[in-house]
Amino acid sequence: MSEIELEALNFPDAPKMVSATFPGPKAAAALALSARTESMARGGGRMPVVMDRAFGVTIKDPDGNTFIDLSAGVGVSSVGRCHPEVVQAIRDQSETLMHAMEVNNTKRTDLAAKISEIAPDGLKGDCITFFTQGGSDALEAAVKFAKRVTGRHQIIAFHGGYHGIWNASNALTTGTAYRKGYGPFMGGVIHAPYPYAYRFPFDTTHKSAEQISGEYIDYLLNTPYTGADDVAAVIVEPVQGEGGYVPPSPEFLQLVRKACDRSGALLIVDEVQSGVGRTGKMWAVEHSGVKPDMLTFGKGMGGDVPMAGLIMRSDLAAKIPDGSAPNTFAANAMSAAVSLTNIRLLQDPKLDLINRAHTLGLEVQERIRSFNSPYVGEVRGRGLMIGIELVEDKVTKVPLTGEKLGKLMDYVLSHGVLMVPCGRYTNVMRVMPSLTIPRSLLFKALDVFGEGLAAL
Ligand code: PMP
Repeated sequence: MSEIELEALNFPDAPKMVSATFPGPKAAAALALSARTESMARGGGRMPVVMDRAFGVTIKDPDGNTFIDLSAGVGVSSVGRCHPEVVQAIRDQSETLMHAMEVNNTKRTDLAAKISEIAPDGLKGDCITFFTQGGSDALEAAVKFAKRVTGRHQIIAFHGGYHGIWNASNALTTGTAYRKGYGPFMGGVIHAPYPYAYRFPFDTTHKSAEQISGEYIDYLLNTPYTGADDVAAVIVEPVQGEGGYVPPSPEFLQLVRKACDRSGALLIVDEVQSGVGRTGKMWAVEHSGVKPDMLTFGKGMGGDVPMAGLIMRSDLAAKIPDGSAPNTFAANAMSAAVSLTNIRLLQDPKLDLINRAHTLGLEVQERIRSFNSPYVGEVRGRGLMIGIELVEDKVTKVPLTGEKLGKLMDYVLSHGVLMVPCGRYTNVMRVMPSLTIPRSLLFKALDVFGEGLAAL
């Protein structure tokens, strides 16, 4: 598909700010109403953007301002918002069947079959899907089932990991903001260092962060007296998301896989954020050649509608008793129809979106480095899952102050670009647009970001 065709799937005038103030009066009223009526425990509630309409990677607020969205709703809108084929699928499905509860529906069964086709090696062609509504409950399911099929109860997860906000999933997640005052969560979780080379707590002169982290998992799992004597699973993000967009080299997952094999623990990859084409392969785990035992998906699978779940090796799924995990809204026919459409678009050879994510991602990284900003400590990523770690000083790596990050965010937003930060210090800006983003809009938005950095 040509760039002109991709551009046609967006509002033509982005970015364009037309209100005299930002937020404009209508957005300000909506924000005030939201502050009075909705819990701000949700993420992003205080962001000064109000969405009214969206098309592709462009968003209009109620005052008529048009933004370019580099966040894709945190990697959700893999094929862009309101893609005409998705809208058509919703129209067709809404006239046929939407809710079916847990009874089979044709779209749901088609989707489970399709997922088996697109699953990574180790699961492909011989797996069973359990559908959920969001990523957190996919992780809850992963923990529940891993315990049941192994008869063990401990779980190893990683520092900086984000896996959700409920009991088991929050126990896996390390971010203070999500934990403080809410505990104790599910017991039996052991956290290990993630190979975040830029801020690794151990000396990497002789061994890489990936080697150290991978070997540490073997030490935990296969040595007496580490406390890890009954581990059901290691749960890991192949590219860490909320923890700062950290893409370890393949060796890390390879070492973790070997350690799991030695101990009989399952390897569960959480691809809620990294999956569905975002990193330049259908699944980020495929960059390592490692075969997972289970995989969680979410975000980009559903795109404009909620869809998430857990893919398991068939022999493991066979050990889970029928009817032991009902879920009223999972795999709603509408969500399944949209997911099938998303997968079809991602696999369309004319669009070639997944390879495009890979090549475009490399160009994005180059462009950001070319800004030569003293605040850019590191640019890293895989495909269109790119993190820009901002620091006060490249030598000391002191994270950019909250005040400066606020200024940068204000700059980009008030110039019509939507970006969301992540990272342990909220100092990593992410570039994670829809895979359909036209080059023109992508580089225009990056220019705004570069200007924002210069203005600091
Ligand atoms: N796992 C990962 C890797 C995630 O990034 C997220 C969401 N940021 C979740 C799980 C939880 O997904 P949800 O917000 O849909 O519950």
